[in-house]
Amino acid sequence: MKQKVCIIYTGGTIGMMKTESGYAPGKAYIHSALKEIADSASPDLPDFDLIEYDPLLDSSNISLTEWIKIARDIKNLYDDYHGFVILHGTDTMAYTASALSFMLDGLTKPIILTGSQIPLSEMRNDARDNLITALLLAGNYAVPEVCLYFGGLLLRGNRSTKISADDLVAFDSPNYPPLAEAGVRITLEEKMIRKPGDGLKLVEFGQHQIAVLKIFPGIQFEVFENIMTENLKGIVIEAFGAGNIPDRQGTMQRLLDRAKRNDTVIVVCTQCLKGTAIIGEYEVSEELAKAGAVSGYDMTVEAAVAKLYYLLSMGYNIGKVKELMVENLRGELTKVL
Ligand code: ASP
Repeated sequence: MKQKVCIIYTGGTIGMMKTESGYAPGKAYIHSALKEIADSASPDLPDFDLIEYDPLLDSSNISLTEWIKIARDIKNLYDDYHGFVILHGTDTMAYTASALSFMLDGLTKPIILTGSQIPLSEMRNDARDNLITALLLAGNYAVPEVCLYFGGLLLRGNRSTKISADDLVAFDSPNYPPLAEAGVRITLEEKMIRKPGDGLKLVEFGQHQIAVLKIFPGIQFEVFENIMTENLKGIVIEAFGAGNIPDRQGTMQRLLDRAKRNDTVIVVCTQCLKGTAIIGEYEVSEELAKAGAVSGYDMTVEAAVAKLYYLLSMGYNIGKVKELMVENLRGELTKVL
């Protein structure tokens, strides 16, 4: 019997049409395009149902509300399908993939996000391959994770990041190997794939104030002092290299003092595409250590943001949030001991 996949279309370039004011999601277009694909399909293609969101969004507008809606729909329909394909804009796809990986605990089925750089409605496009391969993966393979399929690569969702605004291989997971490569054949890297969980549990994110601060030479920290309020629950610092910040004349001290006073969790990630941030490796990260910041290791910023939402939504106290922030919960980081 053929497997069945649920496609959730949230918006994004993949289903967009040319309009006078630029590309915009075309309502019901994806439905007819999918019908055409199904009519000409090989027997390998799983059966599928389509859920089209209203409104369809450019993924720049995706927020917690949509993350929760997607996660709830997956939860409600979980038993009816072998897997799920989420059609999503590329701009924030890695954030959504990371968020879903934390919201959906105990997965036993594939949840695959995909989209495209060129719409399906264009003659020359990457949409058709991304869509069909994602469907094949979700219907016929055992990958019990939130993944992102794009440009021939199946990546762990919470390890992925958008690396190109216009290449057709637009995503990579620089700190973790692809879970599968789709060339002439689809080759799964079984050892890299997580074991099935013990059944789906949904953790909905709550609204928490979170910030991301990228360090650059000459940064005037006072510009950012006003964001360090009592309401700020977590901040991801994109530090240099292995987790370093300017420390001459205690430049960042006031900011860090405020964070400490307000119980704001500070997570330090590297702004390098690859590698790991470890507080304490260099003297210039000492101020971070004193402020009680935690190492984000090799987590992407997308994963660190999603993980902060997740841990804060679990209602843990700050000590527990920090303790779990450095643990590998969903395959999102490699801890350095
Ligand atoms: N702006 C689009 C979006 O993220 C880009 C894309 O889908 O590739 O929705």
